[in-house]
Amino acid sequence: MEGEKRGPLAEGERVLLFGGTFDPPHNGHIHFLKSAIEAAKPARVVVMPACIPPHKAASATPAALRLAMCECFKPLFPALEVSDWEIRQGGKSYTIDTVKMLEEKYPGASVYLCVGSDMLTTFTEWRSWRELLRRTVLVAQSREEGDMPELRAAARALEAEGGRVLFTDTPALPLASTDLRAHRRDLSLVPGAARRVIEENHLYER
Ligand code: ATP
Repeated sequence: MEGEKRGPLAEGERVLLFGGTFDPPHNGHIHFLKSAIEAAKPARVVVMPACIPPHKAASATPAALRLAMCECFKPLFPALEVSDWEIRQGGKSYTIDTVKMLEEKYPGASVYLCVGSDMLTTFTEWRSWRELLRRTVLVAQSREEGDMPELRAAARALEAEGGRVLFTDTPALPLASTDLRAHRRDLSLVPGAARRVIEENHLYER
């Protein structure tokens, strides 16, 4: 993993985990991560492309290319690493395992977990979600205009179970990788570093 040279974190410092398929990364991800950094004030950010996301079909895009595309997040924060840990584990990627890995790697740190609307409203379907609630603080972001009431209700339900949810309070930037894969002409919505990987490797061409 990159960034080892920065040394251990102090007790209580925050590690912000941004996981996803990133097939491809897009401006909605950039918008979310920027807002989450402002809200969570982390000491370190870890961007973690999944090997196989448990809730979706496996990506047709090679993991190495999804990892390469995630380089586009690096300018957002000085202590940001793009990790290949989930990809190296192989198989389905469960966030609870990743959180435990980060806790071991950064003893005493608090893990903050980025969740877009779709992830927040389906959180109770995640493996070991109660344990995740105990171990992390969720950093939530709206993805669609008008979805805040549903998100606040989902957050209240998780808080009733002992969870902690921090909202970014920035407006939604409705974008999804699925649409970008289907409409390659919209690549202007993909950050430059990721767009170059797409073009050089002829991704999403039909
Ligand atoms: P797909 O369309 O392939 O399902 P996606 O656009 O949802 O992909 P992911 O890589 O699965 O992208 O998302 C990673 C994380 O970023 C998730 O927490 C997701 O909710 C969040 N996210 C994705 N797009 C946005 C967006 N436009 N605004 C805020 N959060 C987003």
